[in-house]
Amino acid sequence: MKKSTKTRILTLTLAAAALFTLFCTERETTLLPTEPATEDSTTDTSAIKYVFLFIGDGMGLAHIAAAEAHLAAQEGLIGSVSLSFTDFPVIGLVTTHSANSYITCSAASATAMATGVKVNNETLNIDPQGNTLRPITYDLKDAGYKIGIATTVTINHATPAAFYAVEADRRNYYHIALQIAPTGFHFFAGSGISHQTGANGDEPEENIYNQILSAGYAVIRTKEELAQTPMPQKILMAQDTGLRQNSLTPMTDRTGEADGWTLADFTKTGIALLDNPNGFFFMIEGGQIDWASHGNDTPMMVYEVIDLSQAVQAALEFYQNRPGETLIIVTADHETGGAALSANEDGPLVLWSSQDHTAEHVPIFAIGPGSELFSGKMDNTDIHNKIKTLMLGN
Ligand SMILES: [Zn+2]
Repeated sequence: MKKSTKTRILTLTLAAAALFTLFCTERETTLLPTEPATEDSTTDTSAIKYVFLFIGDGMGLAHIAAAEAHLAAQEGLIGSVSLSFTDFPVIGLVTTHSANSYITCSAASATAMATGVKVNNETLNIDPQGNTLRPITYDLKDAGYKIGIATTVTINHATPAAFYAVEADRRNYYHIALQIAPTGFHFFAGSGISHQTGANGDEPEENIYNQILSAGYAVIRTKEELAQTPMPQKILMAQDTGLRQNSLTPMTDRTGEADGWTLADFTKTGIALLDNPNGFFFMIEGGQIDWASHGNDTPMMVYEVIDLSQAVQAALEFYQNRPGETLIIVTADHETGGAALSANEDGPLVLWSSQDHTAEHVPIFAIGPGSELFSGKMDNTDIHNKIKTLMLGN
């Protein structure tokens, strides 16, 4: 165990050296505005128009601390260099258990955030009694907000799916994907859609992308296509041609532009499409933090946290122009890997105690009007309730 973790941290150091320039950029761009948003205790909720909910899948406190320690080590410091969101003025803790387990899965936790209701693991928006739940995104759309959903993994994976789909089993990927087009939501982005055609006997058997095109979405697969496409009403960005079929190119494997979009790219394009006087709700998931943590892959985990941090930075740039109207929330659905930040003579070191999710609390960070509601200890269902109060007023 000790030997393998040491190998990992050495690998991490080497990978980090290769991307040192990138770190410097990160360091310089993460500074928060010197004038924080108005944080009156009596928040005027009618002023809140633009809400970002970032979910680092599997991102516990040790994951964040490891990324910050790593950034510090790169500068020859002992300590931590802040990510884009860790200096937000409001920090809280979130309990994540599901209806049937101390240890949640992504489907149950994202459902809790989308509906305010605990469900059993593996379930999307169906409560333990079998009742169908309605994700808040539909109510927000009805209220005039534009809706965006972006992820580093497939659009029909559990976390994004909880914000639009009702399904008894999160692995029914085709049936989840069939629910994308009918939403009418304005922006979807991810590494594409898995299981694009149904199994034998599934109805309809047509390719999911045909259905999405028929519903009026522009399906955009490359940077070139994006540059050539006039900004339509509805976009689905589907990068399914990268190094990996089911995810964006992990930051540890990236060598340049040819590796395609990052989560920050999705965030920027989503903002451009969603920005309108009535406001928007934009859920953005760093999905591969979880995958790296299942594999106890420290370098990949650290870099995927940094990738999420850069996506939050894109939202912060929007926030800086609309500080009185923009709320940014950054949290996780659960912790993965039972990670602990330690150190040895070579620097920071992550010790893993699990290859699965754990029952740990996860942190939540917030900035902007209404952010004070996210202070203290809360349940993941409360995240839904607070967003509902702030955006729908009840
Ligand atoms: Zn997981």
